[in-house]
Amino acid sequence: MPLELVTLPCLADNYAYLIHDPVSGATGVVDVPDAAPILAELSRREWALSDIFLTHHHDDHIAGVKALRAATGAKVWGAAADRHRLPPLDVALAEGDAVPFGPEVGVVIDVSGHTLGHIAYVFADSGLAFTGDSLMAAGCGRLFEGSPDQMWASLQKLAALPDATQICSGHEYTGSNLRFAAAMEPANPAIAARTLRVMKARAEGRPSVPSRLSGERATNPFLRASRPEMKAALGMEGESDAAVFAELRARKDRF
Ligand code: ZN
Ligand code: FE
Repeated sequence: MPLELVTLPCLADNYAYLIHDPVSGATGVVDVPDAAPILAELSRREWALSDIFLTHHHDDHIAGVKALRAATGAKVWGAAADRHRLPPLDVALAEGDAVPFGPEVGVVIDVSGHTLGHIAYVFADSGLAFTGDSLMAAGCGRLFEGSPDQMWASLQKLAALPDATQICSGHEYTGSNLRFAAAMEPANPAIAARTLRVMKARAEGRPSVPSRLSGERATNPFLRASRPEMKAALGMEGESDAAVFAELRARKDRF
């Protein structure tokens, strides 16, 4: 049985995700922008939080950890590389480490670029990837600490997951990300179709995440840096994939 997934809006435009195994009762949260909405949802569902999974050190992903841990006693997991700037960790993780949760064993992927020490959690049996501010819906995180080459390598690891994987990312930035995607590839019909779907969801108050990896491949410019049509659109035929990615990221910063 796949894990249950709940997408929880927090703060202005952040998301936390709850995962729950109804058999064992294991309940996790990925990132803690704010403890209050998470505690309210746990109590509404009568779930007892067992695990807190952190993707990276930015305050909008960890601000509520202290309060949530105090209220629930949940175990805190996060990157060993960022131990010095994360809340106290019970389990410090590196790429390839196993994350047992209910009936599943997740795996840690290093997805540095937005920050150094940014990790993603992949629960393959349930088809879930928690990507924080690395791969995002129709976009990727800004490069605050890592290089374009590093982020491109990180995105390639996520792009190797199965098509049906649900990408659970940390922010509601999809609308503005799609405006940029359309500016880069005006002739891509999948971007226009996705834009309509996202506008409808947002108008109805629904999150635009999680998103399928197949849809990201078709519309996310940062996953499309290796495509001949993207290189042609940028006038960068013959350039390396990483160079095209770097150009896209630089253009997005100015967009
Ligand atoms: Zn961040
Ligand atoms: Fe963030």
